[in-house]
Amino acid sequence: MRSLAVVVSALTMAAPAPGVAQSNAGQAMDATFAAHVKEWTTKPEFASPLVDHLPAATTVPTPRDVIGHDIGAPNKLDYYEDLLKYYRVLADKSPRVKIIETGKTEEGRPTVVVLISSEANIGTLDVNRRNMAKLADPRGLSDTQAHEIITQTKPMYMVLGGLHSAETGPPEMLMELAYRLVSEDSALVSKIRDNVIVGINPASDPDGRDRYTDWYYCNKIDDTNDLDPVPGAPYWGKYIFHDDNRDINYTGYSARNLLNFYLQWHPPIMHDLHESVPFLYSFSGQAPQNTNLDPILFSELPWFSNFEMAQLTKYGMPGVWDHAFVDAWSPGYVAFMSSNHNGLVRFYETFGNGGATTELRHVEPIKGAEENYHLGDDTKREWYRPLPPYKTVEWSMRDNTNYMETALLTGLQMTSMFPQVVLENFYKKSRNSIDAGHTEAPYAYVIPAQQPDMTRVARVVELLRLQGIEIGRATEPVTLKEGGFPAGSFIIKRNQPYGRLAKILLDKQVYPKPAKSTPPLKAYDDTGWTMGLMAHVKVVGSADLAALEIPVQPVDHAGPTGMIDASGAANYAVLDFGSINFARLRYRLKDVAILVAEKGFTAGGYTIPAGSFVVPGSAYARLKQAVEPLGLTAVGLSDKPSVPTHKAALPKVALYSTWGATQNVGWVRYAFDQYETPYALIFKDDLKKGGLRGRYDIIIIPSQGNGAKSIVYDIPMHGKPLPYIKTARFKYLGDYGASPDIRGGMGLDGLEELRKFVAEGGTLITLGEASSLPAEFGLTADINVDHPSKAFYAPGPIVNAKVLVPASPIFYGYSDETMPVRWASSSLLSVPLIYKNDVLMEFPGGPKNVLSGLMAGANEVKNRPAVVDIPVGAGQILLFATNPIYRWQNFGEYRMLYNAMFNYKDLRLGIDTNPPKPEPVPEDESED
Ligand SMILES: [Zn+2]
Repeated sequence: MRSLAVVVSALTMAAPAPGVAQSNAGQAMDATFAAHVKEWTTKPEFASPLVDHLPAATTVPTPRDVIGHDIGAPNKLDYYEDLLKYYRVLADKSPRVKIIETGKTEEGRPTVVVLISSEANIGTLDVNRRNMAKLADPRGLSDTQAHEIITQTKPMYMVLGGLHSAETGPPEMLMELAYRLVSEDSALVSKIRDNVIVGINPASDPDGRDRYTDWYYCNKIDDTNDLDPVPGAPYWGKYIFHDDNRDINYTGYSARNLLNFYLQWHPPIMHDLHESVPFLYSFSGQAPQNTNLDPILFSELPWFSNFEMAQLTKYGMPGVWDHAFVDAWSPGYVAFMSSNHNGLVRFYETFGNGGATTELRHVEPIKGAEENYHLGDDTKREWYRPLPPYKTVEWSMRDNTNYMETALLTGLQMTSMFPQVVLENFYKKSRNSIDAGHTEAPYAYVIPAQQPDMTRVARVVELLRLQGIEIGRATEPVTLKEGGFPAGSFIIKRNQPYGRLAKILLDKQVYPKPAKSTPPLKAYDDTGWTMGLMAHVKVVGSADLAALEIPVQPVDHAGPTGMIDASGAANYAVLDFGSINFARLRYRLKDVAILVAEKGFTAGGYTIPAGSFVVPGSAYARLKQAVEPLGLTAVGLSDKPSVPTHKAALPKVALYSTWGATQNVGWVRYAFDQYETPYALIFKDDLKKGGLRGRYDIIIIPSQGNGAKSIVYDIPMHGKPLPYIKTARFKYLGDYGASPDIRGGMGLDGLEELRKFVAEGGTLITLGEASSLPAEFGLTADINVDHPSKAFYAPGPIVNAKVLVPASPIFYGYSDETMPVRWASSSLLSVPLIYKNDVLMEFPGGPKNVLSGLMAGANEVKNRPAVVDIPVGAGQILLFATNPIYRWQNFGEYRMLYNAMFNYKDLRLGIDTNPPKPEPVPEDESED
């Protein structure tokens, strides 16, 4: 570590821009820093008077003193432990800094929030936290009392960097921002310190930060070709990659730790820093907007972003814009935890190079290159982009740092100018949410007790509670306009602070029709997420004001306790109503010979559904130990079941992953780990080795990539080999899989091994987008893939699917003729008439079968296969056009995949062996 006595020199900065409160109170400045900024900024207009200087270190060290370089140094990225080291030294040396430990990541790294403010504010953090809790839940508070609290409270402005690990700039910049906030005495920074508590999440995916930093140094540091860039690391964190910002149910430990922090501290503003479009986009809440959120939110968003655009443009910085990039529809982004809880979500996209290497960037769309999804030329002047980015630009990490930091200081400046307005808005939004529960139906949601599978009910209840939503259990039977509900039903009254969030998560989503507009309305992520539909759990919204008066007991634990009859029976039937806990049960009793009832039957007064496990009485003790915590019901049978049975299989399962698209495989891995499911994760090199049938019974290819070709050929063989291998230098590479060169995909050699695997009796299961692979590459010649028309647009809706073969083991635990499924693929499967009987489930299609979210052109999916089982050679291919494990969300569909696994030898059950008959083509329905 360098000495703190760094060179102190006279001020040599550019004169402050007019209107900038930039007197630095005669502070000594760090001349080395200023020289570096000048050297590393590629054009003078890419810097600003807010960040072209830094106070010289006196009592607290600069980042350079601890990590060895100024921020924005070419070719320098820092590992997470070095980021933490800096913040810990800062907290050690300055009374203006406090670190809150929030937990650990999947790989054991600590997660923290760094709080920075004046000594006085840091000294009274606990009082401030209690005040914020009162404003967040103002029940019992008068307006006068609330305003009294507001005058004594400072808003917390929470900043997140590095959620997406390839977006490497923010974790670097935040160290400099922290130092500046602690040390600078300019009027602007002093005012921020006095009026705002700044919270910093140094890297919101700490595991990914380290893995990507290794990858950068190993493979990407010399990459300067933005037209054919070296791809990023195959993994960031343990499971879910870029979807860590689509993790609506907070599976990621870092996200969950942050949510817990949020619910304790209630920062009214949460700001997430991303990198993509040039040079700086500030989110202003573009249409379509989620109208369940408070209108105040949508007024605050442009209030901030326009101020930043005006200030940065005034400083002469080109390319700052808002409005036309991300919509305000989905609540599933991490920083949305703030607006979902009556705060303000903010985010930026700045221009990043995927590392710290300076390179020439082509900003204008290149002919032949794939268009950005938002269909825009970001270099075009628009009303929301008065000073556009340049068409090409030499771009550096320091440029990126200057933009982010200047804008963030400007957002903080705004907050410091109007701290009371920010708090008033927060209070008012919280109050409005409570009031809306009395004035806008539904006034409450009822999740009825006595649903067949209460384990999925418990999942929904627990996920709502995780987000701070209050839930009670009815202490007596309930009668409402909508009908009667048993005692013990879960009641979510909307007259609570997070009543709006309950509505957002539980209501059907009605996405506005795409219209000809500039810019066009495009969904940034899923348009539908209705929790009850995703989980196949009955949820009833009540338009009856009496629902607010239902006597309830607060829920602190929703999990049902399982039950088992007394010991001594010959066999026990575990009743199958579709609980995913059947998976855990099977694996916990893996050495027990379990049978599956192929049909429903009655015994001892019980109706026992098809799919129920039949466990020998000799395993009673272990069965009891399993079913009770799993919330399952086991009933004693005096005899063998009166219906046919087969063995509940325990296949050897492999999950196939490309290297270029590991994310959706990650969601399946996550689910498998939760459900105690053993599996091998295999890659192209494993396929090419061959002998697959000897090693596995089932190979699952989860949805991944962009069509069949991308699964086969994956990362193109451009440039140099890309090793993903653990070495002494790169200790974070080689996790979850390893290869000396991740390029090239399985290729035709790997595909041939898959073909042999099936021919020799293996079961190949393809999910979602991956189901185009067996069709397009001829693993089964009997299925084709069609592509919908250009008018078809289905960004993640929930649609109806119709069960065609109810006796198929795929549907054990399902009793309805139709079920909601999440739309998962842009490829439409097509089977010739002679294989119609192999279609186990189909999409009835048409507008009336769109249950939530948007599907334009719903007639195009009419009668398309949703699940098909095709015998091939001695084996079979089971194609899901749905994705039975979509994120940690569609719990109602998970069981279909487990059913396929536990019954893989019996998947032909229920399929009609008579030749299929032609059916008339159905008429299209009007979309209006
Ligand atoms: Zn991002």
